[in-house]
Amino acid sequence: MLSKPTPSQPRPRQSWLAATVAWVRRRRIKWGRASLILGIVVAIAAIAIPARALQSRISPNPAQLGDTLSVAVQPNSAGSPPTVKMGGKTYPAFAIGSGEFRTLIPTSPLDKPGTITVQVTSEGEVKNLSVPLKNRSFPTQRIRLSGAASQSATQQELDRVAAFKQLETPEKYWNGIFVKPNAGRISSGYGIRRYYNGVFAEDYYHRGVDYAGGMGSPVVAPAAGRIALVGKVSEGFRVHGNTVGIDHGQGVTSIMLHLSRIDVKEGDVVQAGQRIGAIGSTGASTGPHLHWGLYVHGISVDPVPWRFQGFN
Ligand SMILES: [Zn+2]
Repeated sequence: MLSKPTPSQPRPRQSWLAATVAWVRRRRIKWGRASLILGIVVAIAAIAIPARALQSRISPNPAQLGDTLSVAVQPNSAGSPPTVKMGGKTYPAFAIGSGEFRTLIPTSPLDKPGTITVQVTSEGEVKNLSVPLKNRSFPTQRIRLSGAASQSATQQELDRVAAFKQLETPEKYWNGIFVKPNAGRISSGYGIRRYYNGVFAEDYYHRGVDYAGGMGSPVVAPAAGRIALVGKVSEGFRVHGNTVGIDHGQGVTSIMLHLSRIDVKEGDVVQAGQRIGAIGSTGASTGPHLHWGLYVHGISVDPVPWRFQGFN
């Protein structure tokens, strides 16, 4: 323990090095030996003051299929974002204040359960973070297809929706937990798998949540963002129907489908809970409902952690 200097005897403000040099002078030690002593002092100081190491953490731990992984990184020196990789793909790291960066990584029902390893690199320092990705059983539907195939999407709607889902705006618009986009009950949850004529559809999962609100009931923005997509049946949105896409920033987007009415235009900035349209049954829909898809870097994720826990 260091003794505290008393007010009557103020401790001289002197560095270790200066103190050692003064001591060498006082003892009249030859400089050959003095430099050896100095070397030892510097070595002890280097051990006593460890270099600030790269700080990083991943959550949730454990994770389950459909979860969004959050990787928080505090680099050695502020200002330069780290490189964050998982499974050969690099995900952007965005500044979230006080020198910290955060990367969101999506998982989906199509991922293989097991251990997920995320590699974080900052100024030559590499760190591997591992988290278990647990299996989860999703409800299944058995669909019988017969005769004529259902309406297919137009190239125009596919291209515009794909471009929207790839947005990686550095600005973070959302704040806190996401709100329900409609007051209706959930008629179809996230991740439901399907069998078509008894054959399991490997690539299909319900990429969103369906709300069975009444025809014309309000649809609100689940979180703040910028309207980055407005697509209408009249413009070729044959399957999606009347569509609104909200860019929440940092690779997080919401898409609202089958609307009867649209109350916003591209470029508008909306707040959480602000009305953007109304429930309808436009596009490939068998009855009035809202389909809300929440995407992270283009992959549909489970909105539940965003609704009840939040990512800040
Ligand atoms: Zn749906």
